[in-house]
Amino acid sequence: MKVTRCVVAAFFLAVSARGANEVIALKAARIFDGKSNALVQNGVVIVGGDKIVDAGSNLPIPSSARVIDLGDATLCPGFIDAHTHLTSDFSGDFNQRRLKEVDLNVSEQAIIATAHARATVEAGFTTVRDLGSRFVGSREFVDVALRNSINKGVIVGPRMLVATKGIGATGGHFDPTNGFRDFLFGREPDYTDGIADGSDEIRKAVRFEVKNGADVIKAAVSGDQVAREAIEAGVDSIEHGSFMKPETLTLMKKKGTFLTPTLMATEWIMGKLDNYPPALQAKAKAAAAARSDMFRNAVKMGVRISFGTDAAVYPHGQNAKEFKLMVDLGMNPIDALKSATANDAELLGIGQKVGTLEKGKLADVIAVPGDPTVDVTATERVSFVMKEGKVIRQGPPAVQKPQNTALPHLTAPAD
Ligand SMILES: [Zn+2]
Repeated sequence: MKVTRCVVAAFFLAVSARGANEVIALKAARIFDGKSNALVQNGVVIVGGDKIVDAGSNLPIPSSARVIDLGDATLCPGFIDAHTHLTSDFSGDFNQRRLKEVDLNVSEQAIIATAHARATVEAGFTTVRDLGSRFVGSREFVDVALRNSINKGVIVGPRMLVATKGIGATGGHFDPTNGFRDFLFGREPDYTDGIADGSDEIRKAVRFEVKNGADVIKAAVSGDQVAREAIEAGVDSIEHGSFMKPETLTLMKKKGTFLTPTLMATEWIMGKLDNYPPALQAKAKAAAAARSDMFRNAVKMGVRISFGTDAAVYPHGQNAKEFKLMVDLGMNPIDALKSATANDAELLGIGQKVGTLEKGKLADVIAVPGDPTVDVTATERVSFVMKEGKVIRQGPPAVQKPQNTALPHLTAPAD
């Protein structure tokens, strides 16, 4: 018996070693490398272990390679979404969402978030910048836990860069006790909840978040003037930016600041406006009226555009619908594709590792049917997903979409 066990163990070791060194050749009718201005025909990506060995058109295929032929499709770098909330659940109704926040314990919400992570990576988004994770009355860092569990291979999901709790003022956009009766949660939120007033408190909040695992810092400011001050101060990106004036966009272009327009957020909120309290309805209408002109101006002026959707304002996994919204507002399809690949990788500071299909980068490779520069909605029908050389999906997704996906809805005062 003892001998048999040893033989079995050795066999498994041999298999896993072979798996790690296996060479895979991905083939498709076209390839978009993440940075070129056009697709090329006869795309090939050679993958060894977790890295890209080579990528291009009509490459010779090593005889030892396992070939995955994806047919009439386009190979692309794994998409990146620079604005998600994977730990927040989509809900069809403002009050229902608010009730859920106090009704479900944080552990249950964390377990639900694992399904959001899976839906996101299966939709072709192999990296996300997750911008804010908070649970009223709780100090848990669920986004950090989710990121670490994905990195350790415990659960399947995208590579995550997390912001922990967005930082904002008492009574401001991020104050989780807003609108509830005083001291319902036993205490006023403080820097441990991301609520900070003045530079000393903000410094403390930032240090607390970095200490607890934040990769990026998110702050809620307000309209055009404050956005300008934040750009002058050197922020990497402005989210939403609906109310930014052309002069502010000029400043962004000069400083190289990215705009993450999150067009999906406005689209879904406007689609179900009746579910909002009157004050939020008025704000949403004003933002929607301003954002299309702002985005068109930004595209015309050549402001760097990053791809981000505010996932959780709509059901997780539908991130790619942002592409069509961008193209409908005047963006060239190839530029929209670059925003979710090379641009986002640069914004996130991980351009040396991901964002393009190039030798030496991590093998995050997806396939979309047909030619996405002809029909950009092809990005919504991703047929193949590989992350770091491992096939996550080939064929139908494992995660079933929630029942209520047909209903547009709102998030709580959107993060
Ligand atoms: Zn958000």
